[in-house]
Amino acid sequence: MRLTRAFLPTLKETPAEAQIVSHRLMLRAGLIRQTSAGIYTWLPAGLRVLNRVADIVREEQDRAGAQEVLMPTIQPAELWQRSGRYEDYGKEMLRIRDRHDREMLYGPTNEEMITDVFRGYATSYRDLPRNLYHIQWKFRDEVRPRFGVMRGREFLMKDAYSFDLTAEGARHSYRQMLYAYLRTFQRMGLRALPMRADTGPIGGNLSHEFIILAETGESTVFYDAALEEIDWAAKAFDFDSQADMEACFNLATSAYAATEEMQDEAEWAKVPAERQRTGRGIEVGHIFYFGTKYSQPMGLSVAGPNGEAVVPEMGSYGIGVSRLVAALIEANHDEAGIKWPDAVAPWKLAILNLKPGDAACDALCEKLHAAFPNQAIYDDRPERAGVKFNDADLMGFPWQAIIGPRGAAAGRVELKRRMTGERLECSFDEALAKLG
Ligand code: ATP
Ligand code: MG
Ligand code: MG
Ligand code: MG
Repeated sequence: MRLTRAFLPTLKETPAEAQIVSHRLMLRAGLIRQTSAGIYTWLPAGLRVLNRVADIVREEQDRAGAQEVLMPTIQPAELWQRSGRYEDYGKEMLRIRDRHDREMLYGPTNEEMITDVFRGYATSYRDLPRNLYHIQWKFRDEVRPRFGVMRGREFLMKDAYSFDLTAEGARHSYRQMLYAYLRTFQRMGLRALPMRADTGPIGGNLSHEFIILAETGESTVFYDAALEEIDWAAKAFDFDSQADMEACFNLATSAYAATEEMQDEAEWAKVPAERQRTGRGIEVGHIFYFGTKYSQPMGLSVAGPNGEAVVPEMGSYGIGVSRLVAALIEANHDEAGIKWPDAVAPWKLAILNLKPGDAACDALCEKLHAAFPNQAIYDDRPERAGVKFNDADLMGFPWQAIIGPRGAAAGRVELKRRMTGERLECSFDEALAKLG
């Protein structure tokens, strides 16, 4: 993509309304534009990151055995009246009336709807276990939408729902999701700590939040430093093995970690003082096991192995996909801008032509650009070198290929790694090999 043709609007000034670094950088790097409070348009670069984050989430859900569906954003109120949450949910729910005066709502979550969908097909214990998920926009009329997409009103969430015959089966499903989450965040280069959490309006009795440590986080957390030392990348648990999932769960919960609402002073006191950590964190995921809280009132039941009626045990599992884009920036930036990890970068390479019009520069840049279809941004603008360096640093492409007249005449390229600041000078072929 040539920058002279691209829609990548960067801002020089820091927008005054943005209080945290990820929000400032998302506006400055042209990732999002606010449409109304807490509601955003995703511009090309932002959308590419959002899609890459969603793809990683999707791959790991599929790996864990969950299957993707897509439920609508608009839901009928009857479903929520049936579960009893229609009144309870309060002002966070955006309520709508259609032309026939029917009460509808923009879904803040989908427990009711998925239970209704599943009820339409499940008749026997052979239809269990199942785990269905979707990646869909949600709306919550937050009291204080702020920090950009970190706390939006409209936001993209992955939500999965498991159905099991027994409580033991449901715990297995819960552990599968816990492991899938650890893998998901790990792939994005994030360390998200699972912490015992309050179940809130979703209800139930077993729940963990996945928290990324960051000073700008809205949650206060207490944890044992031992939790940070677990190398999840080195683990290879089998999703289908009960024993593996139990071992994974036991390891993930072996050290103390709790959000403020769940802080247990007696247990906390048992953590050796030198390992006690208190900090702020961003909630990027949340998993719940809530038994028959929705299946019961929604009338979901199947015939068990002996013909008896069984009400399936359920869990639900959310990941804040759009929030993750902001969280990734909180975790990866410097004064100059964003430092995208390779796994989620909008484009992997920026080609900086320091002298458009110079035959050797143009030719080398074109050649490199052609070698990375759809993966490179070619800065072919008639701008000063300084402007190009600043914009490439701001937008955070993992690699920059800097091509000036002197190097180009000798067929040389300078590569810069945005994450580390490392630079190396090499031939065109070496650059290709390096960039993969
Ligand atoms: P929070 O405590 O931040 O309000 P929540 O506990 O209400 O979040 P859940 O119902 O657990 O959220 O939803 C699952 C995930 O959706 C959260 O872990 C979070 O990553 C994301 N999420 C929730 N609310 C928002 C929001 N307003 N904007 C962006 N992402 C959100
Ligand atoms: Mg909330
Ligand atoms: Mg929460
Ligand atoms: Mg939550």
